Amino acid sequence: MKRQFDINTIIRENIKRIKPYSSARDEFTGEASVFLDANENPLGSVGGTQNNRYPDPYQRELKRLISEIKEIESNYIFLGNGSDEAIDLLFKTFCRPGIDAALQISPSYGMYKVSADVNEVKIYESSLDKNYQPIAQNIINHGFDNVKMVFLCSPNNPTGNLLDKNIVYEILHKFNGMVIIDEAYIDFSSERSWISELKNYPNLVVLQTLSKAWGLANLRIGMLFASPELIAVLNKIKLPYNISGLAQDYAIKALKNHSQKHEMVSEILTQRLSLISQLEQLACIEHIYPTDANFVLIKTANPNKMYTYLTDNKIVVRNRTNIHLCEGCIRITIGTGSENNSLIEALKSYTE
Ligand SMILES: *Cc1c(COP(=O)(O)O)cnc(C)c1O
Repeated sequence: MKRQFDINTIIRENIKRIKPYSSARDEFTGEASVFLDANENPLGSVGGTQNNRYPDPYQRELKRLISEIKEIESNYIFLGNGSDEAIDLLFKTFCRPGIDAALQISPSYGMYKVSADVNEVKIYESSLDKNYQPIAQNIINHGFDNVKMVFLCSPNNPTGNLLDKNIVYEILHKFNGMVIIDEAYIDFSSERSWISELKNYPNLVVLQTLSKAWGLANLRIGMLFASPELIAVLNKIKLPYNISGLAQDYAIKALKNHSQKHEMVSEILTQRLSLISQLEQLACIEHIYPTDANFVLIKTANPNKMYTYLTDNKIVVRNRTNIHLCEGCIRITIGTGSENNSLIEALKSYTE
């Protein structure tokens, strides 16, 4: 199925009018041997490494590799300084400060609200149901004014589950605005990415990242996939050199080794299975929620006590008990075999 949706009807007028800053590296991209256009230091870099030249502002080589791996043309790809930059730019593109609003599922990732707050945009929460699935009707008929985007997250953080495909399709069809699907954990799941639906839904935006499965959190590279129309707008309003050349080089090296990502993911999935079966043996664990991510949400009688006990044993987990629908819950990242064993051994001696 397809949807007709003209994103120009909801892009802010001031954003449409902006003429982009044209950097030196924008205006000349061909072959040359003498570069006197960007006021760089011609002698090299203090410290001796070769960092005196500005990087490619559009990360073309990196996008070419991502395009091959994700099977989508480069003009559907935007790269940000982490997904966080991409989220911020979406607010800037669609939401007028003090006037427009966004919607998010709850519980979900905390960054949507931080970014909304920074941009002085209201963000409303639509509660998941008891199976941690969105309620399509509540999202489609939200009843708020000027809602321009909805943030979905699948697999969802902190609950770990994939969102039901049919519910997402209904939202994509009927929600009057952009539908952002954050797939930071997609590599750990059995589902294929929503990237494959981009050509059918002009209101769809997919977020992914190199921070999790690729093990490159330090590089700060987030990927946003959307229509070429939206990508052009994001390129126009981003900071000119938002991804350093070093980060681009490291990411290129990683993407050329992408079989190593598959090996790491499969090891983490093996560990996930093993950790869950060991957690199931423990009386202090009341419930283990199904997960499609590299973490697992568990329920326990006294989460604050368990959290403190674990930190006293030098093991840090994430206490989520104060989050909507996560009462009693702790989120545990899947570690190495030996890290997971340390956790299990500690929990064996834990008393409530
Ligand atoms: C970790 C995470 C990200 C990644 O953010 P980066 O800025 O790319 O490191 C994005 N979304 C969710 C839901 C996450 O949990």
